[in-house]
Amino acid sequence: MASKYIALSFDDGTPNDERLVPLLNKYGIKATFHLNAGLIPMDDEVSEWNRLPLSRLEHLYVGHEVAAHSYSHPDLRDLIEEEILDELIMDFKILDVCFKQKTLGFAYPFGTFDERVIQQLHLSPALYARTIRDTHQFNKPQDLYLLDPTCHMSTPDLFELTQKFIDEKSNEPLFFLIWGHSYELNTVQDWERFESFLKIISEEESIVSGSILECLRLMNLCS
Ligand SMILES: [Zn+2]
Repeated sequence: MASKYIALSFDDGTPNDERLVPLLNKYGIKATFHLNAGLIPMDDEVSEWNRLPLSRLEHLYVGHEVAAHSYSHPDLRDLIEEEILDELIMDFKILDVCFKQKTLGFAYPFGTFDERVIQQLHLSPALYARTIRDTHQFNKPQDLYLLDPTCHMSTPDLFELTQKFIDEKSNEPLFFLIWGHSYELNTVQDWERFESFLKIISEEESIVSGSILECLRLMNLCS
């Protein structure tokens, strides 16, 4: 039977990541964190944008994937081509330096894009671009610049979907991609619900947890 891959994807690098990442690590679950280099405070304070400073991000995401999300989180559809490419290239370049890596992943800010945005992505280092168009499916991705997630982390049917994923039988690889923001975990109940989900997937031997990039590589979809 083919393999089942699960990737969690969180945007914006907000303060709750400092609580979320240790919880992921406790269950051995990998994730991808999409950051806007232009909004990361270079001093030690959380910014008015509610973003963690670099000093607190540098070691936080070790073992996970740090990926791009544009330099300043605009709606990329509002920009001319040159500006779109600048937003992409600056984010990738600065993240490379800050995290001593080759940044290869991307998520559309606000989830918005058009043909021009996709054209510019082809000129950037991005190997994939995650959308926010929930499919509620586990199909192997077809177009890596239109990487649609299965669902949002707060979807009411998260546990039904998880059970469906566990029960699913297929000869093709299956991919469960979840997206969200750690700031959406507000109440004790939110955190408990999310931890229950992590526990279920960590205990299921047939499921492989990886960052988005790792999962795409394991499915032989990118280099
Ligand atoms: Zn965002």
